[in-house]
This record gives sequence, structure tokens and C-alpha cells, in this order.
Amino acid sequence: MDIRIDGQRLRRDLEELGRIGRDERGGVSRPSFSPADLEARAWLRKKIEEAGLCYRQDGAGNQFGRLECAGRTVMAGSHIDTVPNGGVFDGAAGVLAALEAARRIVEEKVPLKKALEVASFTDEEGNLVGDFLGSRAFLGLLDEKEVRGGRTAFGIPFADVLKTAGFTAEGILAAHKDRPDLEAYLELHIEQGPVLEDEGVPIGIVERISGKHYRQCAFIGESGHAGTTPLELRRDAFLGLADLALRATQLVATRYYGSMLTVGKAFLHPGSFSVIPGRADFTLEFRSASPEALAGIEKDVFGLAEDIASTRGLTFASRIVDRTAPVAVAPRLVDLLEEECRSLGYGSMRITSGAGHDAQILAGICDSGMIFIPSPDGVSHAPGERVNWDDLEKGANLLLHALIRLAI
Ligand SMILES: [Zn+2]
Repeated sequence: MDIRIDGQRLRRDLEELGRIGRDERGGVSRPSFSPADLEARAWLRKKIEEAGLCYRQDGAGNQFGRLECAGRTVMAGSHIDTVPNGGVFDGAAGVLAALEAARRIVEEKVPLKKALEVASFTDEEGNLVGDFLGSRAFLGLLDEKEVRGGRTAFGIPFADVLKTAGFTAEGILAAHKDRPDLEAYLELHIEQGPVLEDEGVPIGIVERISGKHYRQCAFIGESGHAGTTPLELRRDAFLGLADLALRATQLVATRYYGSMLTVGKAFLHPGSFSVIPGRADFTLEFRSASPEALAGIEKDVFGLAEDIASTRGLTFASRIVDRTAPVAVAPRLVDLLEEECRSLGYGSMRITSGAGHDAQILAGICDSGMIFIPSPDGVSHAPGERVNWDDLEKGANLLLHALIRLAI
């Protein structure tokens, strides 16, 4: 079928949405349920209705535009929330490319046999209570305690945020009950890494999405005077952390090549230049596209932490904050996207997503696939986030053709 998206219209939409939540540092700050997000939601609703799609919002604030038909639903989307001081394209490119694809399908009266739905999921970025709030609510995977009693990344009770934004814990927990029966989910997204640009390829077809394991950890030792406590008698919690960070990174780099490990946050207590740290609190996050590697890293790194604690006279403690399993994209979707790419004449390569996406949550209920477009200089989650408009147009055309194949 010779049908193409309107690249100019898609660009205008992205630029328009990108002006909502502009911050003084030149980025976009639009965390879910913030005033900027509520403005963006109203904007998106209007766009969905203007496209001739049937608008609905579920209890978790996930927004949908539906083209009704008998049969199961083919869905495409992403998210419009951003990290604080983020960019214009992460998430928004996927929602608006899906909207543009649906708009072209309506305009050309493409005779679909299945329902088609554009989706924008709440709080993919995890500014509220953990990543993927909206898509997890859509599947009914949320922890009730966290939804009712959690605090946001900004330290505010989640219940207060919900009240201000006009949502409720009950609504979030019941959101999955409205879910249509899904045939497949597709998500276009910027790569957020340098691979496609380095390879000079406009389209990445995601084969696997990394799983993530995130723990809050602590080494507990004993504080003491930095001038009078001999080195050999110290139980320095920071040295436990430093030792673990170096050795665990080396272990992952050598034994689990391709996997990642990061200590992203650390606090020393009491936190004085003249006092030996008696406690080091830190986050430990690791990711891998292989479930075996993820399990191996968990066992090895926490074994290493226990060893370090016992050698240095410390106690090691940790609790799981979040974990998501790696996902292998259904081969039929990878094949379908490759075929459509070939017939559109676009170069493509298979790629692993190191970042998490709603597509990985959706994989729990249906075949779920992703299209990546290059991120110039690998920049994302920052004001400098960009796309090459040609690449975006190619990605959106691929999405359009894949949706038609799935829904016709
Ligand atoms: Zn995203």
C-alpha cells in the first residue's frame, strides 16, 4: 500500500508539544501530573479528537485514541511525561508518530479488520512511585501499598499529587479493568544511545530490552575521629562502598560483558571532613538483556559485598527497590518490521535496548515490539536531545506500515 505519514505535520505537533513545560534551562520539565503535564494532556486529547479517534482516559491517566473495529486491538504509543530538565523527543516522538499513523489511516480510510489504538502512558519516567506507573497499572501489576502510601521522587506523598491532579489510588488500581484485548503493541522511540548514528543506519529494530535490578544498599561501620583512629582499627563504611564499586564494575565488565552496573547515588554519614564515615548509603543498579546474566550478577555482586563487609568489619544491608525482567521481542514482530523496512527501502539493523520502555511491560500481555531512530550524539534526558527529522519520518512510516500489516 502506497501510504506515507505527513512529516511536516508530525514535526509541527512535536514542536508544539515541546513548548509545553519549557523550563528556564532550555529543557522540558513535564513530570506526570505536574501542571505542565496536565496542560500537555489536554493538548493531546484535543489532537486525538481532531484526528477523528475516540478518546478515553483510564483511572491511571493513560490516554487513548481508538479507531473502533471488531477483533483484538493493535496498539501503538509511548509516553509524554519527561524527566526534570529533559528533552522534546523521549516518549513524545512515539506518541505523536502513532497519532500521525492513525490519522493517515483515518484519512485514507484504510480498511482495517482490527481495532487500532494510540496510547500515551502515565509516568514512564518514574518521577512518581517507580518506573512505568501507567503501563503497570494498565496490566494490573502495581503494588497497592506503594500506590496508597508511596512518596514521589520529589519527596511529596503520592496521595497529595493524585488529589491535586484529580486522580485516585482506587482509579489507578482499577485501570487494568478497562483494558481491551491486545493483539500487539508497537513503540517508536529515540535510541538514547550512539549505536545507530555510529553505524549510519536510520532504523533500529529492537530485538531485546534489558531487564533492570535496582537496590538501595548500605555498608554500616563505625564513625570515629579522623585524626586519632589508626587506619588498621577503622571500620570505614565509605571504603566498603569504594571497594565494592570498583570490584563489582570489574566483575561485570569481565564476566558479564555487555551488562551494566552503576552506583548512581551515595551518602556518607555523618558526612563531615574530619569524621570517619560510619555509614554509606548508596544505590546499586544493574541491567542486562540476558536473564541468566542478571541472576548471575545479583549472586556474584551480593556475594562480593558480603566478603568486603566481613574483611572490613562492616555490615552490608540491601533492599530491592525495583526489578524488571529482560524481554525478547516476539520474532514475528522483528521479522515483520524488517520486511516492511526493506519494502520501504530503509536501512535497518537489529539492536538491544539498554533503557527500559513501556513496551517491555506490555510484553506481559501481547507481542510487543520497538522501532528506534538515531539520537544525534547519543543525547537524551537532557535539553540537547534531538532527532534528524528525516529519520523520524522514516521511523513513523515504518510504524504506519507495520500497524496496517498487523490490523488489516
Ligand atoms: Zn522514553
